[in-house]
Amino acid sequence: MKPNLIVMKFGGSSVADGLAMKQVLAVAAKDSSVKKIIVLSASKGITDKIIETCNLAVSKYDAAVRLIEEVRSHHISIAKDALSSANALDRAVTHINSIIDDFIRYIKGINLLSELTPKMIDHCLAFGEKLSTLIFHNLLIEKSIKSELAQAEQFIKTNSNFGKASPDFDKIKELINNPYGLLDKFGKCDIIVTQGFIGSDSDGNITTLGRGGSDYSAAILGFACSADEIQIWTDVSGVQSADPKQIDKARTINKMSINEIRELSFFGAKVLHPDTIKPAVEAGITVKVLNTFSPHEQGTLIDSSPELTPQIHSISVKKNILSIKFTFKTNHNSSRQAAEILSTLSNNKYATLASSFTESSMIVFVEVDDNAKVIMLKSLFRDCIISYGDMCCIVGNNLTAAEQNSIAHKILHSIQDIPIKFFLLGSNDESIFIFADAEYSDRLIRNIHSLIE
Ligand code: ASP
Ligand code: MG
Repeated sequence: MKPNLIVMKFGGSSVADGLAMKQVLAVAAKDSSVKKIIVLSASKGITDKIIETCNLAVSKYDAAVRLIEEVRSHHISIAKDALSSANALDRAVTHINSIIDDFIRYIKGINLLSELTPKMIDHCLAFGEKLSTLIFHNLLIEKSIKSELAQAEQFIKTNSNFGKASPDFDKIKELINNPYGLLDKFGKCDIIVTQGFIGSDSDGNITTLGRGGSDYSAAILGFACSADEIQIWTDVSGVQSADPKQIDKARTINKMSINEIRELSFFGAKVLHPDTIKPAVEAGITVKVLNTFSPHEQGTLIDSSPELTPQIHSISVKKNILSIKFTFKTNHNSSRQAAEILSTLSNNKYATLASSFTESSMIVFVEVDDNAKVIMLKSLFRDCIISYGDMCCIVGNNLTAAEQNSIAHKILHSIQDIPIKFFLLGSNDESIFIFADAEYSDRLIRNIHSLIE
């Protein structure tokens, strides 16, 4: 069935320069019979630069203003490259200047107060998305595409948790669907452009949804307006079967479940944040990850439930993992000892990747990103056997199906000459973990990936 309403989100690299923006236009303008809400991120690198500017502003006003001038010239050059008519360019530049001047006023305020609060940062962060959307909107006007620029803070209502605000779905639904709400704009246009990442609290203060939050904005919008489809446009062709820098035969996974995305992103794969798209996927809205720069490719479709045919989809590796092996004290309840170990780890902010325990012992895998954490861990658990290694995570459908020649068998067979230290079938049918010395992880990934080439 042909969709009627699509939410399309384009990330920072899709609006990084004028050429990329024209590419976004080409993708967005296709099929004019479908209504579209286009959600844009800030241009690549701009959000980081705004944070840097705010931090500088507390004590170094001039240096902060110099950075803002870089933000101004960056956007003016995007506008120059994207827009061809003098009229459209004039309009865009005037608008860019007024946003930048506002930004400078805020920076002055931060400097005068010598204080930077999360609320002030959020206000400034919004300038990034405001700039990208205004240029893109001018590009649509120039091409005579009927469009409206909607300011996200007018309908993405959140709590006041600045820096990582939570949406108020009831309010948002009302502001989108009421007779004069966002969707009403489709009465006079085919495309609504709006900012990702930003919203506002009940007092009207600008809030942000957390870094990378534009995916979340797209999911919130898609969910709230019951869109037929949410498309996340990025600079890779969907979710990959492995890191292409490690495996040159890595390819796009055409379809995967939301749980697999969860496992993958926990393992550091750069895919969209699973929790943010979950409500939309569960509501039955099709979510796709697509490539702005190669739009004819099929990309990845994310499904709420997995397929039953056992199949490996993707392999990733996490480095700097410690395995900690505990021998339980006799005459003590083992489950309680296991629970105590896990809570000690979480109270000390260690991320537990996987664990397994029996009546007499337990093994836990944690990620350690610096030496101080290793030292602390050794002092927390003095009598344990601790070893370093890499953890390989394999995700797919029905991986633990106990049939002859199962996926687990095939994997073990493919790595039979590699000395691994641990092999764990995930508890969710969608993941398998292998722990080995770091020197073997490349071979592990290559051998296992060959099963799906
Ligand atoms: N511009 C924001 C960030 O860089 C939001 C996003 O791009 O999703 O985190
Ligand atoms: Mg992103």
